[in-house]
Amino acid sequence: MIRNLPPLCPEHASLLQTSERFTGPHAEKLLRLGGILHAADECYRCALLRRGVEIPALESLNGEDRNEAEILLWGTGQSSDGYCFDHVRQLALITRAARKGEPTGASLARVNAEAEECPKCLSNRWIHEYLLAGSKLPRTDLFEHLRAIASLKATFPSYPPEKTPRPDCRSLEEYLLKEGRLFLIAPFDASERLFLEPIVSDFERRRKEALENQGKGLFISCPPPYSDEGSSFEVAQRACLESGGKLHYVEGVAMPVKAPKRHEGQIHRAWNCLNEKVVDLMRGGPGRAGLAYLGILLDEPLRARVEREAPRTYGDPVLLGFGASNLTTWDSEESM
Ligand SMILES: [Zn+2]
Ligand SMILES: [Zn+2]
Repeated sequence: MIRNLPPLCPEHASLLQTSERFTGPHAEKLLRLGGILHAADECYRCALLRRGVEIPALESLNGEDRNEAEILLWGTGQSSDGYCFDHVRQLALITRAARKGEPTGASLARVNAEAEECPKCLSNRWIHEYLLAGSKLPRTDLFEHLRAIASLKATFPSYPPEKTPRPDCRSLEEYLLKEGRLFLIAPFDASERLFLEPIVSDFERRRKEALENQGKGLFISCPPPYSDEGSSFEVAQRACLESGGKLHYVEGVAMPVKAPKRHEGQIHRAWNCLNEKVVDLMRGGPGRAGLAYLGILLDEPLRARVEREAPRTYGDPVLLGFGASNLTTWDSEESM
């Protein structure tokens, strides 16, 4: 039985009930519960219900607490990432007491039993296990890697189906594998360079301004090649708008075709294209050699569908969230 359950919207309350009745393996049941609690954490309707409800939680964790908890967990195959702050602290207390030879009044088994009834621990455990499973996926080839992610998302307990423009595609990766295409990285000719130069230098100027203002009011938080890929959506959308649509908007993933390393993992991002060639303003203009840009061009029909079915805040990704509850709208001044 989960204790201190936060208020849940009808959808998440009913999903949680179903998982509580799950009679399969215990570890899978915990993951099912954790995934729903994690989704509820991020759910707008659940958040509305949580407003004003006191949820007991520690705000911060002493860095040493995590180390001490890890010492206790050493060799168990568990990680302190799978616990809430409160329970990490309890693990740390056990380590400290044991070091001093004092009685602890608690044990790992007891904390684990409590953690199995703690919504925050269950949610953290789900995230930890999902990331762990993701880190073990094959990275031999871009397409194989995407297929592996799609299959992990389809089978991982309580992984929420992602809402893509194709209802039969329940993850971004599945959608990109079925509908995406590779965009060309090629040198620009003289007239393309002439068109691009002022745009590239304008974005470079704005990036520097943003850095000087510590990112205030603008979008690029760090210099290439360490760009914050989360900003790529806004950059590419602005470039599309400001070029009057001459720079097309493309969204997908960009990663090495062969043997992507762990730190080069698949990243959902956006870029532009000009005459079918990649324009990557996050990387100073041309697409980066060695990367494969697999994406979907936001053509007129898709754009119309986005505006109708998945209205969102300007600067957000557009390929996810179709048919989702329409809680945000396009900014009226800057809509694409
Ligand atoms: Zn909810
Ligand atoms: Zn906990």
